[in-house]
Amino acid sequence: MRIIKGRSISQGIAIGNVHWHHSNDLLIPETTIGKEDIEEEMRNLRSALKDCKEELIQTRKLVVRHLDEEHARIIDSQLLILEDSYLQKEVEELIKKEKYNVIKAFNIVISNYEDIISKSNSDYHRQRDLDIQDIRKRVIQHLIKKENYIKQQIIEPSILVSYSISPSDFFTLDPDNVLGIITREGGADSHLAIMAKAFKLPYLSRVQEIDSISEEEFIILDANKGKIILNPVEKTKNLYEDKLENFKSQRNKKIELVDQTKDGTNFNVYVNIEFIKELDALSPESFGGIGLFRTEFLGLERNAFPSEKEQLEVYHRALDKIGDKPIVFRTFDFGRDKFIDMLDMEVFHIDNSYADWGGIKLCLENPEILKNQFRALLKVSSRRPINIMLPMISNLEEVESAKQIFKAAQNELDAENIHYNNVKLGVMVETKNILKHLDALAQEVAFFSIGTNDLAHFLLGTSRDSDSLTHHYHPVLFKKISRIVETGLRHNIPVTLCGEMGADPYALIGLAAVGIRSISVNTSSLASITNEIENIDLNKMANLESLIYNCEDPETVHSILMEYYEQYIEK
Ligand code: PEP
Ligand code: MG
Repeated sequence: MRIIKGRSISQGIAIGNVHWHHSNDLLIPETTIGKEDIEEEMRNLRSALKDCKEELIQTRKLVVRHLDEEHARIIDSQLLILEDSYLQKEVEELIKKEKYNVIKAFNIVISNYEDIISKSNSDYHRQRDLDIQDIRKRVIQHLIKKENYIKQQIIEPSILVSYSISPSDFFTLDPDNVLGIITREGGADSHLAIMAKAFKLPYLSRVQEIDSISEEEFIILDANKGKIILNPVEKTKNLYEDKLENFKSQRNKKIELVDQTKDGTNFNVYVNIEFIKELDALSPESFGGIGLFRTEFLGLERNAFPSEKEQLEVYHRALDKIGDKPIVFRTFDFGRDKFIDMLDMEVFHIDNSYADWGGIKLCLENPEILKNQFRALLKVSSRRPINIMLPMISNLEEVESAKQIFKAAQNELDAENIHYNNVKLGVMVETKNILKHLDALAQEVAFFSIGTNDLAHFLLGTSRDSDSLTHHYHPVLFKKISRIVETGLRHNIPVTLCGEMGADPYALIGLAAVGIRSISVNTSSLASITNEIENIDLNKMANLESLIYNCEDPETVHSILMEYYEQYIEK
């Protein structure tokens, strides 16, 4: 038995075998097929090649717009590979001869291409090696989805161990068979963290000794205590099995809606959701509404922009599940680590000038995507009032342009005689640039939602993967939040905070002290945060705001807030 440590990102306990995932691994199923399946396998291949081609054509347009024709030519050579009829013929022959499934057959053929090119004497050809690798990954990912091979990738419930995992990789691994997550990299505000909480999975990051975990080991992941127990003795295992049962029953305990702090001040608690499934586990009586619906996760799940029809279906289901509670749909916020593979070009990852690219910018550059989303949202609004929120706004022109696209969507629906209601249009406050225009912005929109996950790193130069200690407690961030709240009050528009900071039990005390009265938190944290709000007494926090502002570093703020928590909240 051995213990190694990490930082807890999402609470909980998991017990089980290890599944190691290397980010560049493409898991190729070994299954063989019957003669009668050959045609179906080839149909899947043709369809996957077609989907990849469409993706690459879209990506090409983006590359031309952001870079130049020369960079876009990389994509032309990839398109040529996809159109190569000889490649398809070779795959077909292999399937027929060896009865390999299409993924395995395609992988063998494309690997042969890679081999030939990597041995070439020409620099030009060797550089094409990367393009082929990219094609291999894209096509296989499409095939995996079509064939539903996903289930075979983690065959039995296991604890996922990896240096780092992207949100789209997580989907291809089948979240249903993941008991918990262990990584070496990744922070509390990363999108993987958000997904772990959405799926209520324990997640430990910053595990420096991760290489000492092997697939042969049976482990206990205790994300409450920040530790991993490798090969536990029987007594420890039994103890943890009891703890796990206890944890599960606590997690399923009924949560009573809270709308006030202990001293009777109104305080709203909403939830953030990424997947409709999250709502199944929640009683509509336990939360005030949906404060943030991250619609881009529809794209991450599908590995493509969802159509208007697909969106409509999901948005209707969300409304079905929450009765008449308020709901805020955020328009697609792709970018940063939420790149669907369609946009997963190296150029967008390595160039820092894309740090705030994605979000509203991507949608304004591709107005059809935004207009389709507005159309879908307007259509569901015919049922009842809804709110729409724009992400990553950094200037007023972006709001103006989005409103024009919104108007165009309304005009289209008018022409089609389709009914819709008035919707409230709000914005995320999460970039540094927008802080300079808060007053003007407040006159243009119906509400603000503070996105501390992004705002923190724009303000402090940290990253979403940084340790939360560096930003959840930073006095500068608290000051800015207080200013946003104050602007909202002056203009009489509601302000909610929907970043992960609101679900951090110590940071939440500081947020209440600087004036936050409405938060939206991940569904895993709802129970603990509800309990905390009920126990917060604002009368006992009179000096806390100035105390925070007078601190010079986040560590001091952290200890002050922790002390308060231990004195008044922790029972
Ligand atoms: C945020 O930035 O705080 C936020 C809620 O948006 P996301 O985490 O989806 O970027
Ligand atoms: Mg954000």
